[in-house]
Amino acid sequence: MLNVVIFGAPGSGKGTQSDLIIKEFGLDHISTGDVLRAEMKEGTELGKIADDYIVKGQLVPDELIIDMLAKVLDGKEGSKGVVFDGFPRTILQAEALKKMLNERGTDVTLMINLHVEEDELMNRLLERGKISGRSDDNIDTIKSRLDVYRLQIAPLAEYYMKEGKRYAVNGVGTIEEIFERIKEIINRYL
Ligand code: AMP
Repeated sequence: MLNVVIFGAPGSGKGTQSDLIIKEFGLDHISTGDVLRAEMKEGTELGKIADDYIVKGQLVPDELIIDMLAKVLDGKEGSKGVVFDGFPRTILQAEALKKMLNERGTDVTLMINLHVEEDELMNRLLERGKISGRSDDNIDTIKSRLDVYRLQIAPLAEYYMKEGKRYAVNGVGTIEEIFERIKEIINRYL
């Protein structure tokens, strides 16, 4: 399987680039943020708990996310590979993902680390907020999401660096330009 972790701050383009990757390479897409938003919309127990964290821009607790991810992954059996978007966000999640994939005879193939400066992220997220309808695309929540990224999530890049799987990609440019950079890296693994 070709398993790609797409990693970067909120607003760095993970969702946009994930869509292009899955189309180009015939992979499945798992976005934990999308799964949580669907749970919230359905008003499930998990959705209600997640809502409290998401509106504050904080991370949903690891055990909830890991259980949720395991269930979603079970539904992807027979897949050519998966793009993990917004997961993992902590070392514990990364270790859990490795274990889950190893049990299925596979592993994370590579990690794409999109890099965009904070000013640009703020502009992009405020623009997105005008149309996304997301409860967390407002200035206060964006600020805390960027703090959470810098302090809690960004250090995870080191984990994949040590595994020799991390590729830093400049996330500024047109969508097509950025996708070309990513494609060039993924093609090395085919
Ligand atoms: P996203 O759509 O990836 O920007 O995620 C939106 C929000 O969902 C985040 O700010 C977190 O509150 C929550 N979330 C999504 N994925 C995770 C994860 N892997 N671990 C913890 N919280 C998450």
